[in-house]
Amino acid sequence: MMILNNIQNQDYFMQIQDYISAGKIASQVRENARKKYHVGSTLFEICESIEKEIIQKGGKCAFPVNTSINEIAAHYTAEPNDQKVISGTDLLKIDLGVQINGYIADTAVTVCYDPKFDFLIQAAEAALKDAISIIKIGTKSSDVGKTIENTVKHMGCQPIANLSGHSLEQYTIHAGKSIPNIWSIGSFSFSPTEAYACEPFVTTKEGLGFVREGKTRNIFSLITRKRTKDAEADKLADHIWEKFNMLPFALRWLIPTWEEKNARILLEKLVKNKVVRSYPVLTEANGERVAQAEHTFIPQENGITVTTL
Ligand code: MN
Ligand code: MN
Repeated sequence: MMILNNIQNQDYFMQIQDYISAGKIASQVRENARKKYHVGSTLFEICESIEKEIIQKGGKCAFPVNTSINEIAAHYTAEPNDQKVISGTDLLKIDLGVQINGYIADTAVTVCYDPKFDFLIQAAEAALKDAISIIKIGTKSSDVGKTIENTVKHMGCQPIANLSGHSLEQYTIHAGKSIPNIWSIGSFSFSPTEAYACEPFVTTKEGLGFVREGKTRNIFSLITRKRTKDAEADKLADHIWEKFNMLPFALRWLIPTWEEKNARILLEKLVKNKVVRSYPVLTEANGERVAQAEHTFIPQENGITVTTL
């Protein structure tokens, strides 16, 4: 039992309100993305329209919308004017984040218009549902991993072993604790004062069940406020800090404040100086398709609150 003093209580209450408001927006936007027919749309159109909807609903983007296709499991967002078009057989994971005062809702859906891949989507959704059904204060993260693995395997698929859910903190998406998608040693117990994202990734039996880093890197985040020796690059770093804090951003988001070619050069400088980090796309090691489902939740005394339900 946690005893909080009044001030802590008030802070906690306000944080929960922000988590819940962000979750409501994220959930509505995700459901609209699930229903929409994306075939023929470009990745640029999909990312930009979802991000616009988040802002229209009163939220801010916690990270660029991820539109990872087929064997790409995660961390692809549209390049500026990305002309890649969704086909009728593509398995598209739409992973979106909403923040209010830095309190984040992280949620994802997989869509496909070819029924051949429904089983993958169903396995990811079922694993998420089963995981959430066992979580309360004190549940061990390793039991969540075991539940996800069991459900996924029962449905004839396999979990991606080296991708996991995570704890969330203000302006921090991966706050240090991992929720595994397989049974694993090393565990923590869920605490009522923290928010978490659970996100099973599943692939086919033919997959290797883990992801490798790909060459493409189009999501970035600031890691330090350290200065470089380049005034222009420092100016971009200041802009990034003001706009996105330490949260991830896309090159798209720097345009038109910066001209695209110049933004690329400066961003590269910031990466080289270790002021900004870039995230590689993550690809299933055998090139098999991957589906994902994700919710954000807060364990509470009277049961779990799923903010993105
Ligand atoms: Mn996510
Ligand atoms: Mn996540």
